[in-house]
Amino acid sequence: MKYRKRVLVTGGAGFIGSHLCERLLNEGNDVICLDNFFTGNKENIVKLIGNPYFELVRHDVIFPYFAEVDEIYNLACPASPIHYQFNAIKTIKTNLVGSMNMLGLAKRVKAKILQASTSEVYGDPEVHPQVEEYRGNVNPIGIRACYDEGKRCAETLFFDYHRSHKLKIKVIRIFNTYGPNMHPQDGRVVSNFIMQALKNQDITIYGDGMQTRSFCYVSDLVDGMIKMIASRDDFTGPVNLGNPTEFTILELAEKIIKLSGSKSKIAFRPLPQDDPKQRKPDISLAKKELGWSPGIQLEEGLLKTIDYFKKF
Ligand code: NAD
Ligand code: UDP
Repeated sequence: MKYRKRVLVTGGAGFIGSHLCERLLNEGNDVICLDNFFTGNKENIVKLIGNPYFELVRHDVIFPYFAEVDEIYNLACPASPIHYQFNAIKTIKTNLVGSMNMLGLAKRVKAKILQASTSEVYGDPEVHPQVEEYRGNVNPIGIRACYDEGKRCAETLFFDYHRSHKLKIKVIRIFNTYGPNMHPQDGRVVSNFIMQALKNQDITIYGDGMQTRSFCYVSDLVDGMIKMIASRDDFTGPVNLGNPTEFTILELAEKIIKLSGSKSKIAFRPLPQDDPKQRKPDISLAKKELGWSPGIQLEEGLLKTIDYFKKF
């Protein structure tokens, strides 16, 4: 009988986690989805419930959890600025105490563990595009710091567990990712613009819209995550995973208006504090080590995402 790997996904009911759980099940794994449902949603995983190889656990990673597993993907953490700033101290706790709990579990059961880190570790970057060697430009006392510094310290913990306990770690730095199962009210740019466009409301651009981001479709990202956990043991990362095609936020707004056939107008709003001016991953390392690069262009991914948001 084929051995089914036992895989734990923290934050599994969230946007990326739900796609990852589905993919892991389709590949014949035994999946535990752990979530406290802060920003995640049962709707995201409802179609997986009933699959005998899928278990859903309501649990908060700031408390220890034990299960015999082979691999852990640590995604638990709110990802959108309004949600991670809602309770900044809890965000830090989730990143630090949550990561320590999962690293402790990995150590005990000798599991391989992947950390969902972020391009936010580069802060408002002065190096463009961002390479993994760049150490970043983060404001440690700003409103984004609970997330940025939380994720930076989580990376530190991963590398200290690796050095001290020879843990098999995998650290990925995810750049802006979008797709179905994003929370419709989570305040991120793609979900905001699509919801506004579908309702013919003003599209709210913060600042002048000249800031840039590079958007990766979720299935491409999940491919990269699976390749990363399967990569050779001495490849720890950090490795950037994202789509290197860069757009201004104004270009994104115009594309979404066009693709959704919306009558929305653009409305400019104040730029939040510490909003990064530019972001684009250098993915040479992911190409070399994982043979990975994203395949879905922005228009194709946006059309699928617009279709998903029509139900709200
Ligand atoms: P999301 O908010 O949809 O998912 C996060 C999930 O974690 C949710 O289901 C939430 O309920 C759960 N969670 C939060 N705190 C928890 C806790 N204390 N205990 C247990 N569960 C908890 O966000 P996402 O976009 O799917 O992001 C997933 C991961 O990827 C996050 O760690 C995020 O920082 C990282 N990431 C995402 C992006 C992106 O563009 N989507 C970019 C960089 C990094
Ligand atoms: N943004 C915007 N309007 C919105 C939501 C976001 O102009 O309704 C901008 C935001 O200021 C930032 C970019 O879009 O410059 C991406 O924001 P998001 O919160 O999605 O992600 P992050 O800033 O973490 O990359």
